[in-house]
Parts: sequence; structure tokens; C-alpha cells
Amino acid sequence: MTSLSRLMLVFASFVVFPAATAFAEDEPKSDTRWRLFVGDHAEGVVRALDAKTGASAGTFRIDQTPALTRSDSGRTVFAVEGAAGKVATIATGIALEDHGEHADLEVTDARLLPTVLTGKKPAHVVEGSGQIAVFDDGTGDVTLLRESELLDGKMRPRVLKLGPAHHGVAVPMGDFLVVSVPDADPEKPRVGLKVVDRDGGQVGETVACPGVHGQAQSARTFVFGCKDGIVVATPAKAIGGPALTHISTAQLGEGNVSTLKGGKAMQFFLGNYGPSAVVLIEPGAEEVFRKVDLPTRRVDFALDPAKARNAYILTEDGTLHLLDVLSGKIMKSARVTEPYSMDGHWRDPRPRLAVAGDHIALTDPRHGLVRMISTETLTEDRTIPVEGTPYTIVAVGGSGVAH
Ligand code: ZN
Ligand code: ZN
Repeated sequence: MTSLSRLMLVFASFVVFPAATAFAEDEPKSDTRWRLFVGDHAEGVVRALDAKTGASAGTFRIDQTPALTRSDSGRTVFAVEGAAGKVATIATGIALEDHGEHADLEVTDARLLPTVLTGKKPAHVVEGSGQIAVFDDGTGDVTLLRESELLDGKMRPRVLKLGPAHHGVAVPMGDFLVVSVPDADPEKPRVGLKVVDRDGGQVGETVACPGVHGQAQSARTFVFGCKDGIVVATPAKAIGGPALTHISTAQLGEGNVSTLKGGKAMQFFLGNYGPSAVVLIEPGAEEVFRKVDLPTRRVDFALDPAKARNAYILTEDGTLHLLDVLSGKIMKSARVTEPYSMDGHWRDPRPRLAVAGDHIALTDPRHGLVRMISTETLTEDRTIPVEGTPYTIVAVGGSGVAH
């Protein structure tokens, strides 16, 4: 049994929300709502859709085709418009608040927030320890803010001038940040990662992570992709900041990790590895890496936040695969779109995945659709027509009680 399987037993009971009991009269009404936010491939538009009915929940005009990131709480979507030097922010209108034995669900209109984060070329937006860090590739500056500031319109952002400019990343971990370190020669790839304190002062040594790209969080630990391995950042045990450890991926053969997703209910990571594989990563386990080869090249992949052992991977032949992260085996595969070849430009319109409750919401840009595919059977339950060329997608929502 891997350490993941053991963890699974511990966490499995938290996934299901308690169903209605016999006391129907006093029972508060439980509701499930999911909203999809879809970025257009050609235009500066984000469209919000009700995942169940397909009804529009808003159309938000921005400057250019956005990369979309959702906050951990799901209350905010960041629409990054790098070349326009902006990050637009959208309140999703879906709020889940923990009330102990149940969650409260509050649904309001989605709206474009007045706050637009500006910079020279903002790129990666990362949340950690209750803070959101926006890295500006054009300057090397990091802007730190809290989601509550955005939502109540009282912005108090802090800017750390870490420079110089590079395609970088900053990750908040407690009172510290883990940030990428560029080469002295801006033409050369990034060299590694370092820890800085709240004033930007370096703490400890720079850890090598050539070409660092991609990061994800799982159970307070972050993992970063490097050309020759990964770096694991574990939270500080005492003063001194998070600990950075490099682990080589040399035994996995040709390829490297540059995109990562982190497990929510249990600690693991799923990364890309070369064009036709993914790798399950369990820091601290006997077997840290389990590489999973795919039949054709990978288009996109996503983790299921509720069904913690499920990951979904779309390959260029239009097949969606269900990967069991415990066994490391592909359990099911089903054809869900026509082929979308990975030849051509990386930014050509191709499907993207998001998990919304019991469905995988998959954009099909050629057909102007979001396909809603059952996470159980991998068959299509319904389609949602979307204007323009649906491309990037995030889902927010869940179940709760409306008092
Ligand atoms: Zn309540
Ligand atoms: Zn990037």
C-alpha cells in the first residue's frame, strides 16, 4: 500500500456532504451550484455560465484573451492579460462559508470587479497562506494582496521589487515567499529558487532548479518543476522559512515537469512529463515518482477536488482518460471530442478541462461548446453552446445550505 492509499482512508469520509435526514421540517435546504468561467480564444471576453442549465451568468469584456485562475475559495477569478499588462478580477458570485457541520452556500450575480491589477507583463498568479502573489515578468516585481481586499474594494496591495525581469513565480508560504531566481544573463534560463522574507531579503541559499516553471500546492507543501527534477518546499517548522529540497527526475527518462496540479483532500501532485506522459508525485514516499505513459500526446489534465483519487487527462486523439492516482493506472478511456493535434502552435485553440461537481467541463473550441462529461462514466451528459471560441475554463461551486 502506498502512503497515498493510507491517506485516502483517512480523508475519504470528508468528501460527501451529509444528506437530508428524517427531520424534514427543520432541515435547511441543501443546494448545489456550479459556475463555469470561459475565456474566449480570439477576443477579450470571459463568459460565465450556470453549469447545470447552461444559462448565462454574465459576459465580461476585458482587453485580451485571458489565462484564467480561480482563488482557493472560488469567490474570485483572475483573468490574466499579460501583453495588455493587466489582471482583471471577477467576483464569481458563489460563496461557500464553513459553518462547522455544514457549509452555507450564497449565490449572487457574478461581476467584474473595479480593481484591475496593472503591471508591465503580469503572468503567474499564485495563492498561499491566505495571500495572492502576482508575478510581473516585465519587471520582476511581486504584488501581494488578500482576496478580501479585492472583494470589498479596499485594496492594500504590497509590492516587493525583487527584479530583474524574467518569466518568474512567487509563492506565499507563511511570512515568507519562495521566488524564482533568474540567471545574470537574461537570455539564459532561470537558475533556481530562493526564500525571501516579507521585506524581500533572501533567507538561506538559492536551490538549483534550472528553468523553473510550474508549481502547485497540496497540504501546505509546494512543488515546483525544474528541467532536471522538482523542488519541494515544505513549510517552516520554526523561524528560518520554508525548506527547499531538490529531487532529481533523471530515472524517469527524457522529459521534465513544467505544469503541476496539487491534490486537495490528500497530499500528492500530478505533473506533465514530456509530451506523452504524466507523473504522480508523492514527496516523502518511498517511491516519489510514478510515471504514467499515455497513448498519444497530452492536451490538458485536471484533478477532481471531491473524488480525491480521480484525475482526468485529455489526449490529442480526443480521448479522455480517468487516472486512479492511488494505483497509478488508467481505469477508463472514452472518446469525447474529435482529434485536436498537438502539432502547430502551443496556443492554437484546443480543449481545456475543469471539474464541476459530477462533471468534467471540457471546452470544444471548434464546435463552440462546453461538453459536460460524467466523472463516473466519461460519457457526455449534455453540451452548453458558447458564443465565440471557448478556450480557457475554470469552475467554481459546491454544495451548501441556503438559510
Ligand atoms: Zn449555516
Ligand atoms: Zn508560465
